[in-house]
Amino acid sequence: MFEFSERLRALPPYLFVELDRKKAEAQARGMRVIDLGVGDPDLPTPPHIVEAGQKALEKPQNHHYPSSAGMPAFREAAAEWFERRFGVKLDPRTEVITLIGSKEAIAHFPLAFVNPGEVVLVPTPAYPVYHIGTLFAGGETYYLPLEARNGFRPDLSSLPEEVLSRAKILWLNYPNNPTTAVVSREWFSEVVALAREHGLIVAHDAAYCELYYEDYVPPSILEVPGAQEVAIEFHSLSKTYCMTGWRIGFAVGNPELVKGLLTVKNNVDSGCFQAIQEAGIAALTGPQDCVAEHRRIFDERRRIMTEGLRRLGFEVYPPRATFYLWVRTPEGYSSAEFCARLIEQAGIVVTPGSGFGEPGEGYFRIALTVNKEYLEEALQRLASLNL
Ligand SMILES: *Cc1c(COP(=O)(O)O)cnc(C)c1O
Repeated sequence: MFEFSERLRALPPYLFVELDRKKAEAQARGMRVIDLGVGDPDLPTPPHIVEAGQKALEKPQNHHYPSSAGMPAFREAAAEWFERRFGVKLDPRTEVITLIGSKEAIAHFPLAFVNPGEVVLVPTPAYPVYHIGTLFAGGETYYLPLEARNGFRPDLSSLPEEVLSRAKILWLNYPNNPTTAVVSREWFSEVVALAREHGLIVAHDAAYCELYYEDYVPPSILEVPGAQEVAIEFHSLSKTYCMTGWRIGFAVGNPELVKGLLTVKNNVDSGCFQAIQEAGIAALTGPQDCVAEHRRIFDERRRIMTEGLRRLGFEVYPPRATFYLWVRTPEGYSSAEFCARLIEQAGIVVTPGSGFGEPGEGYFRIALTVNKEYLEEALQRLASLNL
């Protein structure tokens, strides 16, 4: 009787329904399923952060409406963390706001700047929210394919003038989910130059900037001179501090861009629970050895799984960041077919690359979010499959 709006009916199909069904089937047959599908770390939030949240929960002053922009103390902690990590000074009053996890802000941001018919440049394969936020704002998505031959970076030099002239926002995400690709500060400089030339907003999703390996350390786009004129960057405490359930992050960058996002948020939410912001302050200002420990654990899993898969003949894109592996599907299977077969015959859940967008066809994504015993078992099960 109540028909969904055109905007909901225009949502891309949820590709994981079929996989969820196959997973439930395998479990019903008594199979112990190893789930390498979801990007949610298995590790608990470090105890000093939980304790700060518990103490803050008891304070009556935290039981009221927070402000949409976030507590000044959290924004100061975020600015200080940012300066320590990237060497960039931010004004916590105008260049930093608290987010209820970065997903809501990524979805809301286009509402502040995109008019119907205006173009948003969205990488593909990608986190689906860049396109969905565009769709909800009435914008038009122009997809930028990420291909192995370009190191999974969009080829910005090939953008037609006509598209650039209507484009309002360019979304980027490095370290990248799902491809695990990384970029250099020099590449960000080229992006900033293009954005300044064409009046483009650069919206950079930096959710994985603390999960890096070997000698690579991800830059912030705000390290590039001139970036503060065109860029906003979305940070999340979810992956860095294993806080996905808490819902906290922050956005930083150009004050007008921050203000636009804040204006939307002022009108749709009433801010992030202050007790959670206090836990966030403990995370950002406390000892960072927990983050080094998270990196060490994911690095060990990354090595076990990359080596194991290569031994079995899989082609793995070498991951220098994130907690994923981006792997080619074997000859003769589509991504969806291969992932269905893995669940049915080996009880292993992975995500088909095509679920992140058409150029993801021919790949699957493994999340290293289970312990190494499970990963080793997954490798054994893979070895006994006849591919
Ligand atoms: C996990 C993730 C996020 C954000 O998560 P929040 O918990 O909402 O902060 C953002 N972007 C990408 C690419 C992610 O994988």
